[in-house]
Amino acid sequence: MRPFTYLRAKSPAEAASLAAGVDGSRFIAGGTNLLDLMKLDIETPTQLIDVNDLALDRIEATPEGGLRIGALVRNTDLAADPRIRKDYGVLSRALLAGASGQLRNRATTAGNLLQRTRCPYFYDTHQACNKRQPGSGCAAIGGFSRQLGIIGVSDACIATHPSDMAVAMRVLDAQVETVRPDGTTRAIAIADLHRLPGNTPNIETTLAAHELITAVTLPAPLGGTHLYQKVRDRASYAFALVSVAAVIQPDGTGRIALGGVAHKPWRVESAEAAMAKGAKAFSEQLLDGATPTPENTFKLTLVERTLASVMAHARAQA
Ligand SMILES: Cc1cc2nc3c(=O)[nH]c(=O)nc-3n(C[C@H](O)[C@H](O)[C@H](O)COP(=O)(O)OP(=O)(O)OC[C@H]3O[C@@H](n4cnc5c(N)ncnc54)[C@H](O)[C@@H]3O)c2cc1C
Ligand code: SF4
Repeated sequence: MRPFTYLRAKSPAEAASLAAGVDGSRFIAGGTNLLDLMKLDIETPTQLIDVNDLALDRIEATPEGGLRIGALVRNTDLAADPRIRKDYGVLSRALLAGASGQLRNRATTAGNLLQRTRCPYFYDTHQACNKRQPGSGCAAIGGFSRQLGIIGVSDACIATHPSDMAVAMRVLDAQVETVRPDGTTRAIAIADLHRLPGNTPNIETTLAAHELITAVTLPAPLGGTHLYQKVRDRASYAFALVSVAAVIQPDGTGRIALGGVAHKPWRVESAEAAMAKGAKAFSEQLLDGATPTPENTFKLTLVERTLASVMAHARAQA
């Protein structure tokens, strides 16, 4: 048993400031990831700042015609919101493809974005893992890597980001709003929130220490057909081997982001023009530079076939 203190913050700025006051502080929202990591001795916070009393549980229209989703909106409520279902169907579908009903009832928007990898070696404290213990090595390289990354990986880490919701938010070009311990606020493009592993896989986002996410803003609706296709080992309650979030317009142009392949949702805007040339040409551009392991080379084909399936569905629905 490791002792820690527990505080409930009354405002976002107070939460960030309380966290900054004690080394080893962590925010806790739904707790569905953090508590598991604490039980396994992977996260060892000295102080938990509970953010559940903050009034960040609303979904509001923005003056620009989009939606502002509070950091504490539960995954279930976000997926079911009529405005999300009507105008941002890819997001609703991605959320419903994740976890289970009970977990989604508890899991929050910010916690989902910041959930940690599902690399099996990260969860086994007897194994070398640069993400858990910087400099210790990476047991996944040369180990069991079937589920792990194929692009944007490094010699230090080949983990993937596990969130389904984040892949949909990437295709929608969401913005993440934050408050820092000094009370200043900023907006971060979702494209810039998650990092590639490089030599510091333990640093997963561009958030500063103790920076609190307060909301995620979606731009005005894009129209088109919204799809989220997730390929996994079981039909439910499993993380993606590969997933595709798509917003496709009637003329066949569109946006695509991939999950299950990299340390962050993977989108290459410059490759999207190649969608017109078909799934094979598009996936080759989207995954240009991929370095899969012998165990997960199959993901290259899986991405191509999932893209083909999504593009065929979009044509049929259009
Ligand atoms: C069995 C199981 C299956 C799952 N399957 C899937 C799946 O298929 N797809 C999927 O996408 N997810 C899946 N999940 C993960 C689940 O979606 C996440 O655990 C959940 O979204 C995390 O949200 P939370 O609010 O509980 O976060 P918490 O556990 O409370 O926090 C997670 C992290 O976010 C930080 N944090 C929380 N709120 C803030 C904030 N406002 N600002 C800054 N930092 C913050 C915490 O400090 C912590 O580091 C699964 C989880 C389990 C246990
Ligand atoms: S892939 Fe990353 S998370 Fe997995 S063992 Fe290697 S360093 Fe750790």
